[in-house]
Amino acid sequence: MTINSDTGQGKRKITILGATGSIGESTIDIILSHPELYQVVALTGGRNVKRLIEISKKLNPTFVALADESSLDDLKEGLSGLKIECDAGPEAILRAASLPCDMTISAIVGFAGLEPTLKALDACSILALANKESLVCAGELVTKKAAANSVTLLPMDSEHNAIYQALNGEKIAHVEKVILTASGGPFRAWEKNKIAAATAQDALKHPNWSMGAKITIDSATLMNKGLEIIEAHHLFPVKPDQLDVIVHPQSIIHGMVAFIDGAVLAELGTPDMRTPIAHCMAHPNRVSTSVKPLNLAEIGTLTFEKPDTEKFPMLKLALQALREGDVATNLLNAANEVAVEGFLKGHFGFYDMSTLVERTLEKGARQFCNSRGIHSFEQANEIDTFARKTALNLFKSAA
Ligand code: NDP
Repeated sequence: MTINSDTGQGKRKITILGATGSIGESTIDIILSHPELYQVVALTGGRNVKRLIEISKKLNPTFVALADESSLDDLKEGLSGLKIECDAGPEAILRAASLPCDMTISAIVGFAGLEPTLKALDACSILALANKESLVCAGELVTKKAAANSVTLLPMDSEHNAIYQALNGEKIAHVEKVILTASGGPFRAWEKNKIAAATAQDALKHPNWSMGAKITIDSATLMNKGLEIIEAHHLFPVKPDQLDVIVHPQSIIHGMVAFIDGAVLAELGTPDMRTPIAHCMAHPNRVSTSVKPLNLAEIGTLTFEKPDTEKFPMLKLALQALREGDVATNLLNAANEVAVEGFLKGHFGFYDMSTLVERTLEKGARQFCNSRGIHSFEQANEIDTFARKTALNLFKSAA
């Protein structure tokens, strides 16, 4: 593996899956700040061909893939004259994920990220995982494959990255609780009847973080925290009842670990994804970023409160799915993706989303009552497909 070292030998070879997204952009910011440390192997995008061409020109990867096949000609034209191979379609994304590299950043949004993530586990030495849905849909499959292939799994999600740092060198037996903080989203202080009438525009105004649309809606429903609890369950070997969520509106503390002797270790910082991304990208070293330094005197007060699962039922549904296992968490994720898409398009109201997820979980539990865990991508895909169809049918019959 050619890793940048303190001696400056070699560059870390990096692939970014989801390079045109919010995480992708922050990753590129770090690469451009440290061109001496990184060499880009492959970049992928979904539909944004214009942005994919722009970043490819800046980063000069070997291979570029776009999910949207209809824009292949535009991609080819945009990259003509450059020594960059390109292709489009789902197979092209998998090919990008399969190219040997030192580190893959998995930052495609949703279930679409699972198969490329699994492919990347055959191709890289370090997988920096932002695509939490991979672990929610098939956590055991992903973590077992990483272990079997001796791939280091680094959490890029800010809460999990914080916990990873706080756990550094500690024995899991000494851990009492793993605590994820939640900003509470834009509706934390709203009354339930006002939340019921909230629009996608309201929900997209996240108080602290700048992120893609899907995760921003998930933050408004607290489903994001539910997905993160499931993610934490797969990343850190603690029991589900050792995982806790606390609402911390300032988002300065990103995650904490409480130990059996009463000590609590936390990671703090300005809420900016470039910090956890840089932590992964430089691992086990550190690199500088242009993140605004934390100024606690300026912030003055850090506050905490319990999450309100009556106002935000998605969190309760996610915790229930976690207790039921990988099949349930996969169903939960698929139904949530359908619900979020419908809410963003104005088809669903805020609380229609949790109703849809709840009903899909019920139907899925009956359909897959004999399934014990998820052992292949095909099985994960079958459950995901069932849940999407079920959620859409439920929506159509309600409409
Ligand atoms: P964005 O929506 O900003 O970006 C998603 C990326 O995935 C884009 O590059 C998009 O391409 C690509 N994409 C979408 N659909 C497909 C598809 N079917 N096939 C291939 N590529 C596709 O999301 P974020 O960057 O916000 O989030 C990415 C992941 O990281 C999510 O799983 C999220 O939960 C997680 N995460 C994000 C954080 C954040 O701060 N943003 C924080 C922690 C975790 P295009 O835009 O070209 O269509």
